[in-house]
Amino acid sequence: MVKPDGVQRGLTGQILERVEKKGFKIVAMKLVVMPREKAEEHYAEHKGKPFFKDLVDFITSGPSVSIVMEGRGAIAAMRKMNGATNPVEAAPGTIRGDLGIETGRNVVHGSDSPASAAREIEIHFDPSELLDYKRIDEAWLYE
Ligand code: UDP
Ligand code: MG
Repeated sequence: MVKPDGVQRGLTGQILERVEKKGFKIVAMKLVVMPREKAEEHYAEHKGKPFFKDLVDFITSGPSVSIVMEGRGAIAAMRKMNGATNPVEAAPGTIRGDLGIETGRNVVHGSDSPASAAREIEIHFDPSELLDYKRIDEAWLYE
């Protein structure tokens, strides 16, 4: 997900470019202002934490881009490409390391496990919005 700070700062294109260049396949994508209930569900694991309200306020404050991408090792690789939660600690070369400063404005979200990905995809998308197609370069991305 490109969070509202990423959209407002005009970073959506270059974030998508990183995903596409890596070789991951975009299978669903949309620009939305997340409704509060959906944002609370998305971040349910953080309910009760001191930053929860600010996080939900922020994530619902403007358009964000929800993306489903696919590929071998996609979840772990995308988390690595996103970088550490605190952008100041995120390695250079990562999205957060290159493009952010504050934990509360860290530009992107990425699912942290297959179970979270399945849960989050259901919050963001209708099953009919996930598209099934082949990238023409698959034969060159995979052995
Ligand atoms: N967050 C925050 N303050 C904190 C911890 C987290 O504002 O002290 C926000 C931050 O935007 C982070 C999100 O809550 O990306 C979810 O936190 P998590 O620990 O799951 O980090 P992530 O999985 O995004 O790296
Ligand atoms: Mg998380």
